[in-house]
Amino acid sequence: MQLRYWQLCLNVLATITITMAALEPPEKNSSILIIGAGTWGTSIAYRLVKRGYTNIKVLDSNTFPSSISAGNDLNKILEEPISPPAADQSDLDYAWNTIEALSSEVWRNDPVHKPHYHPTGFIYAAVGDEAYAKVKAAAEARPDVYSLLEDADAFRRAMPEGVLTGDLTGWRGFIRRQGAGWVEARDILLDVHAEAVKVGAATFVCDPEAGRVAELLYEDNEVVGAKTADGATHRADYTILAAGAGASTLIDFEKQLRPTAWTLAHVPLTAAEAPTYAELPVLFAVDQGFFLSPPASAIAAGEPELKICDEHPGYIHLADGKAKEKSPVPVQRDAIPRSSADNMQKLLQATVPQLADRPLLRPRLCWDSDTPDRLFLIARHPGSSSSQSRLLVAAGGSGNGFMNAPAVGILVADLLEDRLEERMAKALRWRPETAVDRDWFDTQGRFGGADKVVDLGEIPDDDWTEGPIR
Ligand SMILES: Cc1cc2nc3c(=O)[nH]c(=O)nc-3n(C[C@H](O)[C@H](O)[C@H](O)COP(=O)(O)OP(=O)(O)OC[C@H]3O[C@@H](n4cnc5c(N)ncnc54)[C@H](O)[C@@H]3O)c2cc1C
Repeated sequence: MQLRYWQLCLNVLATITITMAALEPPEKNSSILIIGAGTWGTSIAYRLVKRGYTNIKVLDSNTFPSSISAGNDLNKILEEPISPPAADQSDLDYAWNTIEALSSEVWRNDPVHKPHYHPTGFIYAAVGDEAYAKVKAAAEARPDVYSLLEDADAFRRAMPEGVLTGDLTGWRGFIRRQGAGWVEARDILLDVHAEAVKVGAATFVCDPEAGRVAELLYEDNEVVGAKTADGATHRADYTILAAGAGASTLIDFEKQLRPTAWTLAHVPLTAAEAPTYAELPVLFAVDQGFFLSPPASAIAAGEPELKICDEHPGYIHLADGKAKEKSPVPVQRDAIPRSSADNMQKLLQATVPQLADRPLLRPRLCWDSDTPDRLFLIARHPGSSSSQSRLLVAAGGSGNGFMNAPAVGILVADLLEDRLEERMAKALRWRPETAVDRDWFDTQGRFGGADKVVDLGEIPDDDWTEGPIR
């Protein structure tokens, strides 16, 4: 074990050295293959087009936007950085503050992104003692950002009248009135995609056969593209693996990625109710869940719905995969465990009981992947030789990958051009030493539900429920 640890440390040093070695930047017409046209793949394509690259191909196993993309959703929470990045911060804080600063600059100013950001505020709450201790510590550290919500009435006043009519028993929390809210998810994916293909510099092949990457293409042990399910080969000067929870089915991530699923459903609203629920602050209880306002497009289409998620440490599915031993792999289901549905209904009852008897529509599992420290993994794959690997990986959204997709696009483009800031390269590096002896059931600082990570294989078939759930 000792020896393996030191071998890993040497690998890390080698990886950092390789990452920082001077490389000729790619030509603007270099061929770039992106695997995955989900949240990150689309954002990377968008950024590369903006930087003048002209020969980009994006492959995806589903028609766009992919039904299994974690970003193909009505809406997502967005939090802007609480502090700007500063030299004296820990590496982790510095990395997060940099990522969030890059992202919020785009959400606030980029004409494609800006219309999709609703800075309505963010209520940060909990019910259980341990969960509340975490919330309280974070909020009290920044009294300039968070204000205490003293009681249930204070929660009620934070929303338009008639929304929070529940008794909110046991709810404690704080409100951040500025610099946070929610974004329209599918709508921004569609707009970013449209922008990326507009000038013809990026081509998306999104198809179960022609777009599904079956394996990477190797030459002299180096990745030179990918093979798709239809048997076609796609050669490229640079390959960027951005396949979300599916990434670890294509290469061995040495336990750095844990595909993890959470659960979501939709609560229908009437047209008359839509204006009241349209611009709500986010109500997020770290051990209960959250719901978000309907996007304008859904209201205009006459289908206003709140998206609802129950909060829990996540579901995994342990199976034989790319790694040597049993490891978590994603399995898509348009259904959710009955206990998740019960928790969603409990959340509605406690907060908006006037909606608690509505059917829960289109419940599904939503897959992301967690790194051990929940920081993104954006790095060149160490490769098999001393030469610079032309395989880049962008994975490990860890539950925060939607709001930060703009930063991912920028950081991957910087990495490709070998101008990623040294401190960021170190933080985001290929880092298997952080995953040695990884406990797949680690809750990673999350709360709610059964307060544990649950293996889907242990849930009997008759404990699943499909929509509409009543
Ligand atoms: C329930 C839930 C709620 C969330 N809420 C928030 C939130 O409020 N705020 C936030 O910031 N983040 C949130 N996240 C996290 C965020 O959605 C993810 O971190 C982010 O979407 C990950 O982006 P991605 O591109 O890595 O993965 P995805 O968007 O899932 O994209 C992966 C793509 O790869 C494709 N693919 C997979 N395998 C292959 C293959 N072999 N060949 C070709 N294509 C392939 C898939 O079809 C898919 O399109 C949430 C996640 C979940 C599950």
